[in-house]
Amino acid sequence: NREMTINLGAGPSCLPTEVLLQAAQGIIDYERTGMGLVELSHRSSTFIKVVKSAEADLRQLLAIPEDYAVLFQQGGGTEQFTATALNLLAAHAVKNPDYMSQNPRGPPCDYAITGSWTSKALKEAKRMGANVNVVVDSRKEQGADSKFGCIPPVSTWKLSPVESKPAFLYYCDNETVEGVEFPSPGLAFDQLPEEYRKTVPIVADCSSNILSRPIDVKAHSIIFFGAQKNVGPSGVTIVIVRKDLIVDPDQGVPNGGPRVPTTLVYKNAADNGSLYNTPPTFAIYATGLVLRDLLENKGGVQGAAQRSENKSRAVYQTIASSNGIFVPSVRQQEVRSRMNITFRVCRPGGPPDEELEERFVKKCSEKGITQVKGHRSVGGIRTSLYNAITEEQTQVLVQVMKTFIDEIS
Ligand code: PMP
Repeated sequence: NREMTINLGAGPSCLPTEVLLQAAQGIIDYERTGMGLVELSHRSSTFIKVVKSAEADLRQLLAIPEDYAVLFQQGGGTEQFTATALNLLAAHAVKNPDYMSQNPRGPPCDYAITGSWTSKALKEAKRMGANVNVVVDSRKEQGADSKFGCIPPVSTWKLSPVESKPAFLYYCDNETVEGVEFPSPGLAFDQLPEEYRKTVPIVADCSSNILSRPIDVKAHSIIFFGAQKNVGPSGVTIVIVRKDLIVDPDQGVPNGGPRVPTTLVYKNAADNGSLYNTPPTFAIYATGLVLRDLLENKGGVQGAAQRSENKSRAVYQTIASSNGIFVPSVRQQEVRSRMNITFRVCRPGGPPDEELEERFVKKCSEKGITQVKGHRSVGGIRTSLYNAITEEQTQVLVQVMKTFIDEIS
């Protein structure tokens, strides 16, 4: 029963019940057209209105300036690992016609590696033959023991020299698997050298924390996120991109720029209102409903940020006062994620104990709390407190944790 369940899954994850009810109605008979939303042509004026209003609401929520385009894409966050790099390399080739003849390896692509998802993005860039430069790899920091769990200060990152005209700097605002998030309000842009900040496009993967706190859109060139955590069902990935970087990649090819597959070309989406080919109509529709709900009923991004702060604080405080029974997986306190809280369960003072973790998962499930097992690559527990999880639901988790502490102590 839905009322009795608290779904703390990492994604696809919980969405507001009232929104799902609305979506369910719309799927059958959309605004009394007699047709379900998923049965309408994506070229119909009705569906075009759905896309436009989702875009308008997102623009309002995130204060997206006019010189940025909002694109609804498919292929997930994973496809954007490729698409961000290809589109920016294409833009670089168009804007710097002689660059490749003098620098055959291509412009440096700077990557900040702070967890599994940036590692995957880097791997993809290497597969494409990009000239990658790892500016930081937090696994290699002193005391890291080859594990992700900190973000070294931006001022220590080994950025490519501005003179080498880097194509972009790529980072992930919240690493979903490990639970590593840049401290509020995000990447410390003021720690980047001024010339670098002004000239190098900055790309952020915000798949797992968008709309949970304000973000400085203008400081970025691209912000992308799969919808399936804070924003909607899986199937749509939203890309916010500065318009002057949207080029026709074919124009860059004679200069040594990449050939870009049609569906990845931002210009195709931008020129066609995200309707170059058939989009994921249901996902866009449901995402629009979530955005409208956040805007009209939940206090916008500020409201979400306040709740998010309260929820994560309550859980981290419980961890801190657990006498070593719950141990945070992320060792640097300031970068512990508000969205994905990762921890191990131990006998006081002991190492992680998988049997106890099983027991904790079972205790959660007795109270209706589901999907709290950590990602299979890191183990432990992960409780994801995305926007749809309420403060009351978080208190149920806190109570289960407290009872568990009493039992084990
Ligand atoms: N980036 C982040 C931060 C993610 O959490 C995920 C997975 N949810 C991805 C990228 C990959 O997204 P997808 O599964 O939609 O390709």
